[in-house]
Amino acid sequence: MTAKDRPLSFDTLCIQGGYAPKFGEPRILPIIQGTTYKYDDIDHVNRIMTLQDFGHKYSRTSNPTVAGFEAKINQLEGGAGAVATASGQAATLLAIASIVRTGDHILAASQLYGGTFTLFNSTLKKFGVTASFFEPDAPAREIEQLFRPETRVLFGETLGNPGLAILDFDKLSALARQHGVPFIVDNTLATPFLCQPFRHGANIIIHSATKYIDGHATSVGGVVIDGGNFDWTNGQFPDFTTPDPTYNGVIYTEKFPQSPFLFKARAQFLRDFGGCLNPMNAFLFNLGLETLHLRMPRHGENALALARFLTTHPQVAWVNYPGLDSNGKQRISRYFKHENGSGILTFGIKGGIDAIRRFVKKTRVAALVVHIGDARTGILHPASSTHAQMDEAQLRAAGITPDMVRVSVGIEDVADLIADFDQALTN
Ligand SMILES: *Cc1c(COP(=O)(O)O)cnc(C)c1O
Repeated sequence: MTAKDRPLSFDTLCIQGGYAPKFGEPRILPIIQGTTYKYDDIDHVNRIMTLQDFGHKYSRTSNPTVAGFEAKINQLEGGAGAVATASGQAATLLAIASIVRTGDHILAASQLYGGTFTLFNSTLKKFGVTASFFEPDAPAREIEQLFRPETRVLFGETLGNPGLAILDFDKLSALARQHGVPFIVDNTLATPFLCQPFRHGANIIIHSATKYIDGHATSVGGVVIDGGNFDWTNGQFPDFTTPDPTYNGVIYTEKFPQSPFLFKARAQFLRDFGGCLNPMNAFLFNLGLETLHLRMPRHGENALALARFLTTHPQVAWVNYPGLDSNGKQRISRYFKHENGSGILTFGIKGGIDAIRRFVKKTRVAALVVHIGDARTGILHPASSTHAQMDEAQLRAAGITPDMVRVSVGIEDVADLIADFDQALTN
């Protein structure tokens, strides 16, 4: 391999991936705050409009700044291409809606972000798309029984939110392959720094860029990444293999054999549903990614140190962090690129809801927020907030208990965090 061919490392791609300026162009990804693009003749416009040629046409479907962010996150995940969206929820919807039709069925791990659960369990139902949920650590033969002839998607989160179980990628990707359905993974909590799901059989990755990708709680956004590794011609996905009348009869698997899903998602559903990312937020996500490789280790180290401290505290009933128990350690060494987990941990406070109220009021460094992945430490009581819409059985299935506090450990000095939690827990 010559020096010229040497692939750039993950850390370098965090900083320089996605955007390569030519002579005299801005060194950093510029914000192209514009909706529209100029052409020289109508034939050129026609070629772009009918997907015969690539080019920006209108910022609902693509924009140069957004494209820079898409290219970088795609490189970091090792995919075939990415489409950025207005939020993580929009990313999940875009991915699902690009695949399913009325009558189809989604099979999803029960440890899900609350918004994803309501999308699958309630809102999509109104469009005739149903979902079933499985305990992610259930044996393969139990999950197998939930597949139906109309199942078209297998969905899970790398790190369940907020149960923090690391997905058994080998088991689930094998099931998805056997049934000829794409395996979609929400990699928001792990980020590609910790885990690259395409290496473990995922076909599509979605992110809420709002969390660690942004990293500073500035912007809402999301992204869908196509692994380009799924066979859409297996007979179960006619929308990919038959002409699309809205683009003069384009057949996605024939026109875009490398990544038909990506082109269909952008050309059809981003066009029709809107939900695009704006250039300013793409700029901020790109800036966030420039320090992802520096922030994630610190989030993980701080979380592990805080988790260890909490296990010794008399007011603490239990602590859950993937790096603490042997099962979590095994999954980390199998699927994660680094020994540490993310910044998310959960713990139980003794003394019921009043003790939780007191704790949340007393913290000074950590703040009560409905957010994760920020440089600042945030705490939340999921049962009364993000997951308040669930009944007790659903809560249990999602790995949530009434005494659970979720912590998104920031990158402050961990000694300040430990002292803060100590004084807030101590009456
Ligand atoms: C926040 C979050 C989402 C939703 O993303 P938004 O950007 O808030 O729409 C989806 N999945 C996970 C795991 C999340 O944490």
